[in-house]
Amino acid sequence: LVKGNEEAVEEGEGRPEESVGRCLCGAVVLAIRTPAFWAWHDPSPATRKAHGAGYATYAGVWRKRMHLIEGEDALRRYCDPETFEIRTFCEICGTPIFYERRHGASMVNVPLAIFEQGLGREPRYLRRPEEIQEWIYLGEPLTPLKGYPGIFRVRMKRRRGV
Ligand SMILES: [Zn+2]
Repeated sequence: LVKGNEEAVEEGEGRPEESVGRCLCGAVVLAIRTPAFWAWHDPSPATRKAHGAGYATYAGVWRKRMHLIEGEDALRRYCDPETFEIRTFCEICGTPIFYERRHGASMVNVPLAIFEQGLGREPRYLRRPEEIQEWIYLGEPLTPLKGYPGIFRVRMKRRRGV
């Protein structure tokens, strides 16, 4: 694991390192200069639906530190009519690529999951923790499920507060 600095990163120091992200089908390829500004978990309802998952983990990246290598034509955008947040995804495979909380914001959120290398940040921030669902896996002990290779059974559900 690469530990990031706690502070925002100043530009211009050292040799820029890049990390490359790809959608599931590979049509969209992008690169960001690492380290990312920060990384955060988002279990909010809109993000859960957009990702079809219990939560998404994003890297917040300055737009100017990111560039699209391939796939401009494959990108489609959805603007939430209530919040005006913009979600960009690959039209071929559906992978979420960008999440912009304000139109034209200088920071773009990119799912950590599309990167094969680290981004120089550990996710240390959590938006709306009260939205974490009962059904997500939180590291409870596992036992192998007999007759189903690769499938495990969760031995006990962690109790949570209100
Ligand atoms: Zn794709």
